[in-house]
Amino acid sequence: PAWLGVMGGGQLGRMFVHAAQAMGYKVAVLETTPDCPAGHAADQLVTGGYGEREALDELASRCVAVTTEFENVPADSMAYLAERTFVAPASGCVSIAQDRVLEKRFFVECAPGSSVMPAPHKVIASIDDIAAIPDDLLPGILKTARMGYDGKGQVRVRTREEVQAAFDAMKGVTCLLEKMLPLAYEVSVLTARGLDGESVVYPIAENVHRDGILFTTTVPGPNVSDDCARRAQDAARAMIAQLGYVGVLCIEFFVLQDGSLVVNEMAPRPHNSGHYTIDACVTSQFAQQVRAMARLPLGDVRQHSPAVMLNILGDVWFEDGSDTAREPAWEQVLAIPGANLHLYGKVEARRGRKMGHLTFVAPTLADAQDSLRQACAILGIAP
Ligand code: ATP
Ligand code: MG
Ligand code: MG
Repeated sequence: PAWLGVMGGGQLGRMFVHAAQAMGYKVAVLETTPDCPAGHAADQLVTGGYGEREALDELASRCVAVTTEFENVPADSMAYLAERTFVAPASGCVSIAQDRVLEKRFFVECAPGSSVMPAPHKVIASIDDIAAIPDDLLPGILKTARMGYDGKGQVRVRTREEVQAAFDAMKGVTCLLEKMLPLAYEVSVLTARGLDGESVVYPIAENVHRDGILFTTTVPGPNVSDDCARRAQDAARAMIAQLGYVGVLCIEFFVLQDGSLVVNEMAPRPHNSGHYTIDACVTSQFAQQVRAMARLPLGDVRQHSPAVMLNILGDVWFEDGSDTAREPAWEQVLAIPGANLHLYGKVEARRGRKMGHLTFVAPTLADAQDSLRQACAILGIAP
């Protein structure tokens, strides 16, 4: 059998491994530590840093194609791999998604074709930039250009003084100030493109965040109009084509209170908001990634059941308020109609840590939402 490679050993890598193995591939995972979610599932674990030549050589020599599950892999490493094997997505695409400054510039460049703009913003790289902030960018959110996720690396600011304090606290790394927008709700569009230029767009997903972390994804989204879905999907199609991207790409959008659509950010990989595709679509986002990187025809993105995905954080192991982790009552949760449990094999539960997810599929969205409510009650999660 042919081997596929993945950079990164987290849960996205693990679910990729499962999908690839189901299609007959062997999978090698590159991660610094063997004790990781994807490492336990992989056929081979290459232990090493993401920038270590020896490890990259081993991955490239074994695998017919390599992908990444972690958007902050050094783009240099992906370029190095690309000289030795097929790499999807390309390092140039990953570089753009790694850096909010390049990402926003890309969205602005796409605007004639995509018909959506990012939030008004300004790059903050020095004290002079702070003095030059236009009044209408405040109140805003100061975000580090690189490495932020789950709302980490961002601070809400109202005045130039607060921007200054937040910028200092981030130790002077390049940041982006974004205008705070009146969000009505948030959506994401998962899309995939093959090397031949064919692309597919999944149904639009409506996302609810809690404490900066994705809480639920609901598809079809209860707030999403057909017109909004079409605009976001058209924008995603235009963007993935413009990037010449190969593989699965997820694009997040805001829908504002006046109904307008704003593009927020993109992830060059399968995405948490696409986990529902495992249980509710003909082709999961992970199987789609396998197809794209193995240069196979892309799969059917049709959703066969309404679905609600609930992220399971480590908090539910401490639901009784004690400091000792206690396994949640899965036997009760799995008795709920339409429940599918996915646990990532993380050894230690910690508050705020993504331990797994549940997807509820049902004949109607109302039924799936009812199952979600039952699970929240059992797990001690405020609905
Ligand atoms: P992720 O975990 O999705 O990668 P992140 O840390 O990269 O998140 P963003 O998605 O940019 O950060 O922002 C996190 C959340 O903060 C958004 O989902 C949204 O709820 C809120 N937010 C971000 N930017 C804005 C904005 N300009 N106006 C209003 N709310 C915003
Ligand atoms: Mg992000
Ligand atoms: Mg986000």
